[in-house]
Amino acid sequence: MKKSPLQRKTPLRRTGIKRKPKSALQKRKDDTGSTYWRNRADKLWSELVRSQGKCAKCGKVGRTEAHHLLTRARKHLRHKLENGIELCMRCHKYGPESAHDDPTAFSQWLGMAEPEKYAWVSRNRHKTFYGKPDYKQAYEDLLAIKERRG
Ligand SMILES: [Zn+2]
Repeated sequence: MKKSPLQRKTPLRRTGIKRKPKSALQKRKDDTGSTYWRNRADKLWSELVRSQGKCAKCGKVGRTEAHHLLTRARKHLRHKLENGIELCMRCHKYGPESAHDDPTAFSQWLGMAEPEKYAWVSRNRHKTFYGKPDYKQAYEDLLAIKERRG
């Protein structure tokens, strides 16, 4: 009969069996849909989208932000580079005709200036995704893109 740990003659710590409970951090790392991976993928996505150092709309050089063409609530598309565009703060959120302030005008501009991105958005706008997003995979895909870019 198998002995329970309490009946063992050899203490557990000498058997090499680790029974230490997982740390909260380890649990987050083990969960590929956790905010641990989402935050890492968010940061890398933003860095890769902001690769030109200038606004795609007005050409302003300097501090830029990464705008999601389809909302980042669309979890399965949140970390696709096709879904991002580099904008200055004014064109992104804070100007009178910013992407967030006037999405219709922004969409019209996108269709003229960035037809490939516009086509991608149109193709994906109504797509439905099922299941939990794999943010760890998204992070690793972005990391591979970063390494290819060098
Ligand atoms: Zn701008």
